[in-house]
Amino acid sequence: MDNGARHLGKVDRIDLTGLALHERVVARDLEILGVPAANWPAEIEDAAGQPVLDVLIVGAGMNGIAAAGSLMFKGIRNIAVVERSRPGQEGPWLTFARMDTLRSPKTLTGPALGVPSLTFRAWYEAKYGLNAWEALYKIHNRTWVEYLSWLQKVLALPVRHGAALEALEPAGPFVRAMLNEGGVRRKILARRVVLATGRAGAGGVFWPDFIDRGLVPDLAAHTNDDIDFAALRSKSIAILGGGASAWDNAATALERGAARVDMYVRRPYLPQVNKGRGSAFPGFLHGWSSLPDAERWATMVYLNDLQAPVPHETVNRTAGLSDFHIHFRTGIETASRADGPYLGPGFELTEKTPGSDPTLGQIHLVNFGAHASHAGIASDIPGVNIAAERVASAVVTSLFREDIDHMRRKVEAYNEPELAGTPFFVPESERS
Ligand SMILES: Cc1cc2nc3c(=O)[nH]c(=O)nc-3n(C[C@H](O)[C@H](O)[C@H](O)COP(=O)(O)OP(=O)(O)OC[C@H]3O[C@@H](n4cnc5c(N)ncnc54)[C@H](O)[C@@H]3O)c2cc1C
Repeated sequence: MDNGARHLGKVDRIDLTGLALHERVVARDLEILGVPAANWPAEIEDAAGQPVLDVLIVGAGMNGIAAAGSLMFKGIRNIAVVERSRPGQEGPWLTFARMDTLRSPKTLTGPALGVPSLTFRAWYEAKYGLNAWEALYKIHNRTWVEYLSWLQKVLALPVRHGAALEALEPAGPFVRAMLNEGGVRRKILARRVVLATGRAGAGGVFWPDFIDRGLVPDLAAHTNDDIDFAALRSKSIAILGGGASAWDNAATALERGAARVDMYVRRPYLPQVNKGRGSAFPGFLHGWSSLPDAERWATMVYLNDLQAPVPHETVNRTAGLSDFHIHFRTGIETASRADGPYLGPGFELTEKTPGSDPTLGQIHLVNFGAHASHAGIASDIPGVNIAAERVASAVVTSLFREDIDHMRRKVEAYNEPELAGTPFFVPESERS
């Protein structure tokens, strides 16, 4: 037995190393939990007799995975997940997330939906061994993506890569989604849509309005862009803002040969305390959406004003490079208040004028735009399971209500006598 296994006490008799074996553990866990449940909603067709999806999920990052998994667990299996990137390229992790490791501690469970064998740790120990887990400091971006890809596979999620959602529109009782798959456009009808489109998925990335967009892409870029750092070799670069991504980009530019980086920060010093981490406890994550608006707003403004510190690893990576210069109290940034749509308890969009566009209530926004309504549960890793449970439960409830006639017929048609073989069995023809 290796040293790491001793920490597991009685469980150490099980050979947890080996992903193949672990996948059998997952299958058994799901079987014990009785998930995914059998599909139960009514089978709905459009006017042309084509089947309609129960739920279309847009985005196969961690929130899309968790929402899809949670829906399937609850027996909503007529779903599809569309993802514009190639497999393994979902989310920011291998593109514009220019840090080496996740900023969070390794112990976060990930989108495990309450199943221990689906946690990041269980997967990592199975794949890389217990000693490797003990030795792991923080999760490498690539490893996190590997884990998320494994979840897609082990949960058998119906993900269609290379399919981008371009528009949504009302279509009678359904939502029509316009998809672009490698230049081929097609339309798909769904009863509900879950937009799990990430940080920029609610209105795009934020550009301060004083930036002349004519400078893009040659002279200006957003950190979310695909930046050609080779082209920045020997150049001087100004970075506006002092958040974690600003530092990651400063480091990347200098490591790839930029002559000098000047970072301009509005604050007098960097944020020191991560209030986001301090508020990632169950009460806050579960209870936030029940607070009165004024209280939510005041707390959100407080948290936004303080912002999160740059991880010290990132500061050390950057500050150790020569030709990095930071300028505090420089008023180039515009202060902005996040504004987001008003969402209902299941992340559904709400109408400004009730009755004006009921289709909105069929679209659930499980991305950064949910922040004001639901706190960070649709954004950061600690809340992902809560968001998935919340949106899936809301969809379950609303489809059930919508399908109540079908449900009634289904229950009426259910006919499995339990007393056959006992003296109290009464044949159906004799029951009054
Ligand atoms: C640089 C960076 C570092 C972060 N580090 C951490 C961290 O350490 N800890 C933490 O808790 N959080 C972190 N976060 C925050 C959060 O965890 C990530 O943003 C995470 O990726 C959110 O998951 P998601 O599923 O909501 O979005 P994403 O992972 O962004 O997934 C959304 C998916 O939707 C797809 N998509 C978008 N639009 C469409 C469309 N129209 N059609 C089809 N597909 C579409 C995208 O291709 C993408 O794959 C970080 C965020 C960033 C940007």
